[in-house]
Amino acid sequence: MTVPVTLAVLGASGDLAHRLLLPGLGTLLSTNPEYDVTLVGCATDPLSHDEWVARVREALGGQCHKSSIERVIATTRYEQLDLTNPVALRGLLKSLGDSPVLYLALPPRVSMAVCKALTTLEIPPGLRIALEKPFGSDLATARELNEVLAGLVPENQLFRIDHYLGKSVVINLLGLRFTNRIFEHAWNNQNIERVDITVDEVLALEGRARYYDGAGAMRDMIQSHLLLVLALFAMEEPPSLNERDVRDLIALMLRHTHLWDGNPVTSSRRARYAAGTVAGESVPNYVDEPGVDPDRNTETLAEVTVRINTDRWAGVPFRLRSGKALGDARNGITVVFRPVDHVPEGFTSAPPNVLSIGMKPANIRLGLSTNAESNRFELNQSVLSTDLAESPLKPYGEILDSIFRGDPLLTVRGDVAEECWRIVEPVLDAWHQGLVPMDEYRAGGAGPARWNL
Ligand code: NAP
Repeated sequence: MTVPVTLAVLGASGDLAHRLLLPGLGTLLSTNPEYDVTLVGCATDPLSHDEWVARVREALGGQCHKSSIERVIATTRYEQLDLTNPVALRGLLKSLGDSPVLYLALPPRVSMAVCKALTTLEIPPGLRIALEKPFGSDLATARELNEVLAGLVPENQLFRIDHYLGKSVVINLLGLRFTNRIFEHAWNNQNIERVDITVDEVLALEGRARYYDGAGAMRDMIQSHLLLVLALFAMEEPPSLNERDVRDLIALMLRHTHLWDGNPVTSSRRARYAAGTVAGESVPNYVDEPGVDPDRNTETLAEVTVRINTDRWAGVPFRLRSGKALGDARNGITVVFRPVDHVPEGFTSAPPNVLSIGMKPANIRLGLSTNAESNRFELNQSVLSTDLAESPLKPYGEILDSIFRGDPLLTVRGDVAEECWRIVEPVLDAWHQGLVPMDEYRAGGAGPARWNL
């Protein structure tokens, strides 16, 4: 049985559509060939039909069976439109029929203008709207966006995309915790000393100044991705994997989350890369990268420490860190357990257990104290390790699947977006006022020397 879907990609000539969204659609069609997708691309670029078809063919190519590609090609079309123009938008909506998906792969300012324009138009029944982060640029603008969106369609027809949630390993944090007897008992402040959630990238700016220089590491990564991972790591057990059950608990966990000592200056650090070498390639000073405005003072490495005000987590620091142009890529959660209270006399002191949950690549490593080869009373750390199965779908394939099925589980609810801004906004304000120094690190290094002491 085929499932017809009309997918209108607004911003179809952009980087996201070409590099992530359409290839994601390709992987989805390879595992779910029942989707019969009518793909409509829109942007202001004057693309001919043939140019559009060539782009779609290239983006889907190699991701799915030829027959699935040809089925999309047979019906796809491109419309050159200024989407902020309500007349053009009305014409587009009319042509899409019932229950279309509008995927806003647009710059944030344009997304907001399009949503405002939509409020003046007749909304087709069953319309689903997907939009890309950032959801606002601070708490006030996130609220404003949510108010506009609330006037368009019900919350469960809105899909605020944070592609981190589309990674199967992230949602499977719940499986790891709640289906393994050995973990849940240890998941509290009695047993856990601290938790680090880190996404360190080797990649530098890679020509993305237009977006990144206006965002920085805190807005780009911590404000959304890492706080969502924190919430999934720390939340209470949901009754089911129903979107409401899980997203209610994510929201609740974030409402409990605050800066470590309530002070944005002492709870955060920021830094920017200086010239260096990453993977054998020279990288210039961040401020000398094409398109960067040094007066913006944008950070390329950000760190914030938060606490969770619950009985389970009181006193446990959660350190969230993300940066670019670092020597080693790290992407995951490190849980450092407390040392045992008592070690029988005769053993050398036991190293603490450390559980690492890798998100890319997806794996689990558990450091345990075991006897050393040379001396039975000496303890070493051994590591139990396993790779985790990953979905054959690219993250955007999983996201599109959830949109087509009408299940917003893997997307960000409006109140969650606001909570994320509420947590980081005081830090951004303190940085803006220059209250936290901008440290420097060599591209290809481990971060500022004083951070690693
Ligand atoms: P982009 O490369 O600048 O593309 C923006 C698209 O919007 C282009 O197709 C552009 O078309 C179109 N557009 C702009 N104004 C328009 C208007 N008035 N009417 C019609 N089309 C218009 O940006 P992007 O990197 O794809 O990012 C899009 C969104 O995805 C952003 O919110 C970004 O934060 C988010 N995102 C991007 C990535 C990524 O890796 N790229 C990752 C995660 C999230 P024309 O050029 O033809 O005007």
